[in-house]
Amino acid sequence: LPDLKDKVALITGAGSGIGRAAAMMLAQQGMKVCLADLKDDRREQTKQDIIAAGGQAITVDVDVSNPNRVAQAFEQTVKTWERLDVVFANAGINGVLAPIEDMKPEDWDHTLFVNLKGTFLCVKHAIPYMKEGGGSIVITSSINGSRSFSGFGMTAYSTSKAGQVAFTKMAALELARYKIRVNAICPGSIKTNIGENTLPTSELEKIKIPVNYPQGSQPLDHAPGVPEQVADLVAFLASNASSHITGTELFIDGAESLL
Ligand code: NAD
Repeated sequence: LPDLKDKVALITGAGSGIGRAAAMMLAQQGMKVCLADLKDDRREQTKQDIIAAGGQAITVDVDVSNPNRVAQAFEQTVKTWERLDVVFANAGINGVLAPIEDMKPEDWDHTLFVNLKGTFLCVKHAIPYMKEGGGSIVITSSINGSRSFSGFGMTAYSTSKAGQVAFTKMAALELARYKIRVNAICPGSIKTNIGENTLPTSELEKIKIPVNYPQGSQPLDHAPGVPEQVADLVAFLASNASSHITGTELFIDGAESLL
């Protein structure tokens, strides 16, 4: 993907999982990357690994649901690298899983704030820096927000992920005049750290959340995907190889959502 060389990307959730793999991949393509994440140690680890592999990276401490921090992250990126071409709005959480009747409103809000408001803020604050030269924005939704609604207790998560798809389409329409493309990716189960703050399956069963979805049993490989497979799709959407693709949601799930 030669057109990515020397261009600049900001990646949220770059300290772990899909964001980390995408940051490594984009840096490998010659992009200068800004690694945005809440967790200091993870951000710094990704940066060290990129630099050790000969790439260029900076880090910013960001909570994507905080408007000022998001604005500062973009300012810092453009101050350092003098341009912005790609945004990967990827940071997200499972949040608290609970049946609707037991879901605390503040837990609902938190999931929506990080996953949905965070996406809005990342696109909003990217526009001033991209509207002259165009660019590509990729948003990490999920099969749970678009095609597969099977995770009991995950209403807040699924609602946020569905909202991201609607947001992607509206943003693509609005930003086409600036030659900014906006696409959503919808992964199935991918081996990452996203479950670390979520109750394990055995505990969910105890609180009567039936875990009825066949997590990870993807027809293509009979296993969950890995972040590097998602990173390949992000690089494609970031590059001119996808120059006529905008406003879409792309499934990357080994046919999990068709079960
Ligand atoms: P992960 O937990 O491995 O990585 C997420 C990263 O985001 C972490 O480094 C975390 O510190 C960071 N983060 C969390 N909240 C943040 C905030 N408020 N501000 C900034 N950074 C924050 O998880 P992952 O699986 O790589 O998740 C990335 C995205 O992929 C999420 O949007 C998730 O919903 C989506 N997704 C994951 C799967 C899966 O099976 N892993 C499936 C579909 C969609």
